[in-house]
Amino acid sequence: QQKMQRGLEKTRTGFFQNILNTLTNCQIDDDLYNDLEEQLILADVGPACAVRLVDELRDEVEKNHLKTGEEALDALRGIICQELTPRYPLELDGHPAVILVIGVNGVGKTTTIAKLAHLYKEEGRRVMLAAGDTFRAAASEQLELWADRAGVPLVQAGQGADPAAVIFDAVKSATAKGYDMVIADTAGRLHNKKGLMDELGKISRSVKKASPEASLEVLLVLDAITGQNAISQAEEFCRAAGATGVVLTKLDGTPKGGCAVSVWENLGLPIRFVGVGEKIDDLMPFDAQTFVESLLP
Ligand code: GDP
Repeated sequence: QQKMQRGLEKTRTGFFQNILNTLTNCQIDDDLYNDLEEQLILADVGPACAVRLVDELRDEVEKNHLKTGEEALDALRGIICQELTPRYPLELDGHPAVILVIGVNGVGKTTTIAKLAHLYKEEGRRVMLAAGDTFRAAASEQLELWADRAGVPLVQAGQGADPAAVIFDAVKSATAKGYDMVIADTAGRLHNKKGLMDELGKISRSVKKASPEASLEVLLVLDAITGQNAISQAEEFCRAAGATGVVLTKLDGTPKGGCAVSVWENLGLPIRFVGVGEKIDDLMPFDAQTFVESLLP
């Protein structure tokens, strides 16, 4: 809770503070709804989502005969929480549990992989990493540094190697050595939809081939600093790439954390983790309730 509060400090003291102020000692009328809509958009919730949330609030105020701003605020908290709550659980019960991580360069993909390794290692899982971004030589080197820091083994091949082959080897090796989780980097270049689809399709097939009992999550890493822009850029790709969830990084570095609220509306994907700093333990499993309480205390 404290970590989330710190991570969301800029967002909370920025645009969400205005929402709190607006709903304190106010009259519930059309002006209020218009103000709220505007403030949600400023908080980077995205226009379509902001309109819908305010409509839902209006319905709830009428249905439940809410009178005060505080009651409306409570209703708004509930509505945002509902919006952020994942519709289905994260699937990690395969043998091994495989997590593919995709995202454009610079969003925090490598750091996120290390943080995930750390988090699950702390939970007592045996984690192996796979350097599936064979496109950038630097990617593999970076990942090696982080693997050392996290204290987990890394399977890698030379630059230009087939990513599906690297990940196949990692899953095979994990299975043989009794590791229960493989977290794989991918080149995940979002500028070429067909290339990405083909590559990820091939990787998914090689995971299943290496271990028919593997489970597969494909996490799309988005940078909260670029907020709605990141989301609209990801829109056309994430379904194509078969992404199953989102990691929202750099929440600590932006007042635009409100973008989280529209991830489901725009991408149809649940947020699974949030990054709240640069250190290895600065990744948190996403919890809607904690998030909302940190935004609108
Ligand atoms: P990649 O190119 O996507 O693999 O990105 P990196 O993992 O190398 O991260 C790019 C930069 O973002 C680095 O300077 C990271 O320290 C930083 N970064 C990643 N996640 C977070 C986060 O949650 N918060 C902050 N403040 N910085 C982050």
